[in-house]
Amino acid sequence: MRFLKAILTSFIILCISTAIPVFAEPFILVLDAGHGGKDPGAVNGKAQEKNINLNVALRAGKLIEENCKDVKVLYTRKTDTFVELSKRADIANKADADMFISIHTNAAKNTSAYGAETFLLGVEENRTSANFNVAIEENKAILYESDYETTYAGYDPNSSESQIIFEFMQNEHQKESLKMASITQNRLTSTAKRHNRGVHQAGFLVLWRSAMPSILIELGFISNSNDMKYMTSQKGVEELSQSIYLAFNEYLEETRKAQNKTTQIGLNSNQNKDTESANPSRPVFKVQFLTSKSVLGKKDSRLENLQDISYYKDNGLYKYTCGETTDYNRILEIKKEVAKRYKDAFIVAFIDNKRVSIDEARRWSDK
Ligand SMILES: [Zn+2]
Repeated sequence: MRFLKAILTSFIILCISTAIPVFAEPFILVLDAGHGGKDPGAVNGKAQEKNINLNVALRAGKLIEENCKDVKVLYTRKTDTFVELSKRADIANKADADMFISIHTNAAKNTSAYGAETFLLGVEENRTSANFNVAIEENKAILYESDYETTYAGYDPNSSESQIIFEFMQNEHQKESLKMASITQNRLTSTAKRHNRGVHQAGFLVLWRSAMPSILIELGFISNSNDMKYMTSQKGVEELSQSIYLAFNEYLEETRKAQNKTTQIGLNSNQNKDTESANPSRPVFKVQFLTSKSVLGKKDSRLENLQDISYYKDNGLYKYTCGETTDYNRILEIKKEVAKRYKDAFIVAFIDNKRVSIDEARRWSDK
């Protein structure tokens, strides 16, 4: 356990930062219908969680595809198939997704428990066993996987103590996850008129690995007869899906508005610094010196004493560059300097903020 903690602590140190969400269009949304195939999830008579989750994921996805501009919706499953928890996060990470929404249905021994709630990863300060148990129950999905001991680094789905590993999980996407969770919970109570059980944090394995803002929705309780009837009805599926679609749309609009502001500020400061790079199509050369899984803090020692630092996102990684000039000879000099500290540093070129090959950029410059 101590070993595990050490790994996790270093992982978290790597992740903590004040990130502004960066995404190139289109916005990639992953919808994750919980459970499936041999794993039915929670069950009440003929009603099975896996079917409720899938119906809502498919319908919400369709609404988003039809109504949200420049959004690509991916699904971890579109049919009644079993998908491992770690695989679900992999799908999102490989696609370099911008948002991950996992859709589930709750269950409790107390059949009078009802209502919707939305989670993000973490452990609450005033944690209640109820929130704890939701995550423990959902994580039991890994018992259907053959090699879960290795895949989930010793997480024991039968022990509530295993939840302790999530105590350190305060990642860079927490702010955005919380924003999306709050908007979604509002919609579930206003549009679908669900009883409001609030936004909470708990240790869900499916959210652990995803490297983007991520939430998990518990639509309602399959163990409660009213909730169950609603979630298995056409009206229920439609209203729950509408809630998710409207929440996502609201999040998207807010985030894009905030981003436009950031981009404009960036452009203005560039104009003062280097009039040449304000010319939109001239190739700009930079020196790439570092790759990180997360955005680094401005005071990070690795960025010290370097000029014109910026980063771009590629394949889920943040690639840091310094120097910025349209003069190829100048960038060669800068690279020489940077290589004293980062021996693998190399020159990269951009036209209109798009990465291009050095050859292409130089051909363009020679025109
Ligand atoms: Zn579930």
